Amino acid sequence: MSSFEEFPVEISPAFEGQRVRKEDMYVEFGGPNVTKKFELVRVKSLEEVEDGLVRIIGPDMLELKEGSSNPLGILIDVAGLKIDKDLEGVIERRIHMYTNYIEGIMHLNQRYDIWCRISKKSFKKGLTSLKWWGLGLIRLFKAEMPYIEKMQVTFITDPVEVGKMFEEAIRIYSERDARARGLRDEEVELFYGCVLCQSFAPTHVCIISPERISLCGALTWFDARAAANIDPKGPNFPIPKGEPLDPVKGEWSGINEVVQKKSLGTIKRVYLHSAFEYPHTSCGCFECIMFYIPEVDGFGIVDRGFRGGAVNGLSFSTMASQTGGGMQSEGFLGIGIEYMRSRKFIQADGGWKRIAWISSTLRERVEDAIPQELKDKIPTENEAKNIEELKKYLIQHKHPLAGKIIEEKPEAPPTPQPIPQTPQPIPQPIPQTPVVIPQIASSQIPPSIPTAAGGIRIVLQGARIKIGKLIIKRAEGVKQ
Ligand code: SF4
Repeated sequence: MSSFEEFPVEISPAFEGQRVRKEDMYVEFGGPNVTKKFELVRVKSLEEVEDGLVRIIGPDMLELKEGSSNPLGILIDVAGLKIDKDLEGVIERRIHMYTNYIEGIMHLNQRYDIWCRISKKSFKKGLTSLKWWGLGLIRLFKAEMPYIEKMQVTFITDPVEVGKMFEEAIRIYSERDARARGLRDEEVELFYGCVLCQSFAPTHVCIISPERISLCGALTWFDARAAANIDPKGPNFPIPKGEPLDPVKGEWSGINEVVQKKSLGTIKRVYLHSAFEYPHTSCGCFECIMFYIPEVDGFGIVDRGFRGGAVNGLSFSTMASQTGGGMQSEGFLGIGIEYMRSRKFIQADGGWKRIAWISSTLRERVEDAIPQELKDKIPTENEAKNIEELKKYLIQHKHPLAGKIIEEKPEAPPTPQPIPQTPQPIPQPIPQTPVVIPQIASSQIPPSIPTAAGGIRIVLQGARIKIGKLIIKRAEGVKQ
C-alpha cells in the first residue's frame, strides 16, 4: 500500500469497519436527515480526466457548522486504456471500502443513499478539508486497481448543485440496471460472487446472477463479470452454476459449493429465490428488507429510506439487526430494489402475489414493477399501519392472500422473532456456530449451564483458545 506520510490522519485497511457515533462526529454528509446525496463513477477518455485533481463545489468542512448534516455528491471520473463502462459500478462500489480505510471517515451504503461522518478526532488532527478524502481515494484506487490510469474526484456540497447532479446519477443507475434485465439465469454458464462485505459480515457471500442483482443494488451480473475479469484476485469471482438442484427455489450445486467454501463451512445451502429454509445471506448493505408477516402469510418490504415503523411495528434498523451480519434468517431477506423487477423475484414463495405490504417510499420507486392486477391490492403505511388494518385491506381489496386470512388457517412457517434492540443503522455480524472450547469434555460441563443464553450463538473460526483458568458460575435465576 502507498505511503500516506503527508496525510493528517492514517490510512489503512485496519480502519475498515470503523464507526463514528453521533457524539463523536464533527459533521455528517448524506444519511437519513438529507434527501439528496449520491456517489457516482464515470468512465471518461484519457484526455477528459486530470489525474490527481480534487475539486470541491460548495462549502468545505471548515465552512460547515459542527454537528450539521449536509448534502453530498461524490463524483469520480476515471480513465484507462483497459477500462470500459461495465466497470463503473464496480469502481463505484469500492468508494465504500477505500473511504473506510481513512481514519475517522465512516462511509455507509451506496449510490443514492450514502451516509458519511467525519470524526471530531480526525478533524482535530487536521482532516479539515474534503481534499484529503479525495487525495486518499485517488491514491488507494490507483494502487489497488492499476488499470485506472487517471482519476479525478469532485465533492459537491452545494445543495442546488447536488440536486442537479442527483437526477443525472439516478438516470445512470437505472440505465446500468436495465442492461441486465434482458438476460436469464438459464442463458449463462457462470454466476458471480462478491465477498467485499466479509470485513463486517464474515460469512456473507453475495451471489449475483442475471436475474438477481446484488443485495446492495450496486452490482449487476455484467458489473460483477467485468470486475472478475479485470481483477481475478479481487472480491468478485466466477461461480460455475453446476447442477440445478431446484430451479424454482434457485438452488444450484455450484453455488452451494462456493458458499460453503467462502463462508468457511457456516453456510451450506442457498436458495436464490426464496426467503425460507436456506435464504440468501445478508450483510448489512441491502437496499430493502423483506419480512414475513405470519398473520397474513405474506411479506412486507421496507426500504432503507423509510422512517418509522413498518406494518409489523418494527423499524428498518430493528429488522436490519435480525437480517444482516451474514446470517441466514428465515423470513427475513435483504434484497436490492432491482430484484423486485426480476422475473424470478421470490418465485418459490409466490412472487409478487405474496407481497402484502410495502413502504410508500419504496412503492414510489417500484411502481413499474408491480403487476397491474395487484396495483390496488398492496397497501403502504398510508392504507395499513398495523396488522389489523392490513388484514382488513387485503380482504376488502381481494388480495390473493385474502382467502387464507378469511379461513384463518394458521399453517404458516414459524414466526421469525426479531431482536428488538439498537437504534443503529449498521447490523453487526451475529455469528452462527456455538462456541467450541476444546479440552473440556461436554460431560464436565454442568447440564444446567445455558450455552446459548439470549439466543445468541458465537462463531470462533480458525481461532486457537488457551484457557489458563475457567470459572463457571450459575447465574442467579437460572433453573435446572
Ligand atoms: S452487498 Fe454484496 S455485492 Fe454489494 S459489495 Fe457487499 S458483498 Fe459485494
